[in-house]
Amino acid sequence: MLDLNELATCTRCQLSLTRQRVVIGSGPNTPQLMVIGEAPGRSEDEGGEPFIGRSGQLLFRLLLEELGVTRRECFVTNVVKCRPPQNRTPTFLEIKTCRPWLDEQLALVTPRAILTLGNTASRAVFGFASPMGAVHGRVVQLGGVPGVATYHPAAALRGGSSVVQVMRRDLAVLRQLLDAS
Ligand code: SF4
Repeated sequence: MLDLNELATCTRCQLSLTRQRVVIGSGPNTPQLMVIGEAPGRSEDEGGEPFIGRSGQLLFRLLLEELGVTRRECFVTNVVKCRPPQNRTPTFLEIKTCRPWLDEQLALVTPRAILTLGNTASRAVFGFASPMGAVHGRVVQLGGVPGVATYHPAAALRGGSSVVQVMRRDLAVLRQLLDAS
């Protein structure tokens, strides 16, 4: 059973020393989508919710335009719940140490589909060994729930319209899954 008080005060890894707060994630228990990113950034560390900065604005605009799904219809979280200093990539040990929290959320939430964002989340959740360029848009199953990986919206903010177009195509795959379920 997920103990939210314990998660909110977790000190299992070194990220507890530099974070402002644990960004647990939120959403309905039976969402259209479970959206899983890498780790909180500065805005999220300050605000306490995942994807509330520029990346989140882009992400939820694309989800609305391609899937007709709003943020309220998503359960949104990250594989690592505390912000790494300078937004560095979480270490293998940090991801492993935080994993039981994500596993408890995966056991609690029953989405129609799962969307992972970026290499770190896609490897941690779906077990991909190849880089995002080789696995995005591929349909996988996790506990009987279909899932798709795409680029992190922060990569789209850096990479421009070509990355956004790839994300739109990956979300179209997700739309087909939702339409068929
Ligand atoms: S990143 Fe995860 S394991 Fe580490 S302190 Fe935060 S909640 Fe705990």
